[in-house]
Formats: sequence, structure tokens, C-alpha cells
Amino acid sequence: MSGLRIPLDGPDGSGTTHAFGLLAPNPSPMTLDGTNTWVIGRGEEMLVVDPGPDDESHLQRVAAHLHGRRVTTILLTHGHHDHSGGAGRFAELVGAPVRALDPGHRLGDEGLAEGDVLTVDGLELHVVGTPGHSFDSLCFWLPEDRAMLTGDTVLGRGTTVIAPDGDLADYLRSLDRLRARAEQVGAEALLPGHGPVLPDPIGALDGYIAHRRRRLDQIRDARGRGAKTPGQIVEIVYADVDRSLWPAAEMSVRAQLAYLDG
Ligand SMILES: [Zn+2]
Repeated sequence: MSGLRIPLDGPDGSGTTHAFGLLAPNPSPMTLDGTNTWVIGRGEEMLVVDPGPDDESHLQRVAAHLHGRRVTTILLTHGHHDHSGGAGRFAELVGAPVRALDPGHRLGDEGLAEGDVLTVDGLELHVVGTPGHSFDSLCFWLPEDRAMLTGDTVLGRGTTVIAPDGDLADYLRSLDRLRARAEQVGAEALLPGHGPVLPDPIGALDGYIAHRRRRLDQIRDARGRGAKTPGQIVEIVYADVDRSLWPAAEMSVRAQLAYLDG
């Protein structure tokens, strides 16, 4: 039972029985409403996933939400700045180590990788390796709530981009693995790094997978019609998309060309 909370006014305060979302004030075309910080626990020990950007008001608000409970570990879904920028400052505020796949983003001795299990007051969080959006992307499975924290691998709205440090072939494999896992364990919610909670994990993942296949077909098609540069392809394939998103689209096209030509 996930105890899903989906407020109509956005992701702040949404989540499941043991995961509480706090929205950072960094909205943009790339970050949607802003970064979601997730506070997880059911007793005196807490985990915090993605402190968000280095924004003192947000970090103080997350710390205040703990009401004196102890943070045992700060975890990063990946190292992108909008998720990790405030990790150092937050670690200082709550006196906890930062664990991430990328050693460059850790504070303390411990890393984080596929198969690791973190436990607070008997509540488990399982690490799932999902490279693709970035090379260091992880998802976290909260079995008690049947909820998967997806970072930027699956967003609450729209679709994610493959960052320059990501890889589309890895990403497609990660989506397939996530879908298989979600089906196998009966996932009831995805808790994304941006945007609202998704109450239909299989539907959301199927949508993502179909979208990727469709975009690849469109890019093949655009090339067939003579488009050569990423910019020319964006003009054709993303014609119906707001121009403010074209730089992100171009990044995505570059990743797809690398995949098609790889
Ligand atoms: Zn990211």
C-alpha cells in the first residue's frame, strides 16, 4: 500500500506514506517546477534524497521538516547540479555523509551502487542502477510503499533529456529494466526528481519507451529528408515544441544521433 498523496497544487508535500516531497525554488524549462527533495523514514532516522540546488532557504526548509530526527545518509540520484549543488551545505546542516555513484559527489567514505540497501528504522531503500540520463543515474526502490524514486530517469511531466554525460543506449536499457522491475514488484508510484508523483508506473514507463522509439523514427525520417546538423533536425522533429526547449532538444538529438551512428 503506497498511501499515495497527490496534491493538486504541485509536488510540494506529495509522496507516499514514508516519502515526503519538498520542492526547491528553481523552476526552469529543464527543471519543470523545480527539483524535488525526498525525505524518507518512519522513526527517528531519516534518509534525504537529492538536497537540490545550493539554495539556503530550501535547505533550511528541508532541515526544519526533520523536526529533530537524525539524517543517517544523504543520497544523490545523480550528480547534476540541480540535485547535488546543495549537498555539501546540507551535509553540514544535518551532519550526515553524502553517498553517490560518482566519487566526485561523495562526502565520506561510502559510495552507492546497484544492489546496495539502506535501512532506517527497519525501512529499506534499494539502489537500482539506471545509467542513461547521466552516466551516474540511480533509482531508489522503497518496497514498503511500492514506490520508485526515479531522479531524472523518469520525470513527472514531459520527457527527460539525455545529458552530455549520458547515453541513449544505456537509457533505453534502463527504461526496459525499470519497467520489468516495476511489473515484477507491483510498483504503485514513481517519485520523480522533477514534476508530480506518477501513480501508474507501468503506463508512465511504456509512454517513455514509446516516445523514445517514436523520436528515433522521426530523426531517421528527418535525415532521410535531407536534414544533416542537429539544429536542422530539431527544426523538423521539434517544430511543435516551444523554442525555449530547443537547446534541450538539440542535446537530445545529439544523443540520438550518437545512438543511431554508434
Ligand atoms: Zn539531471
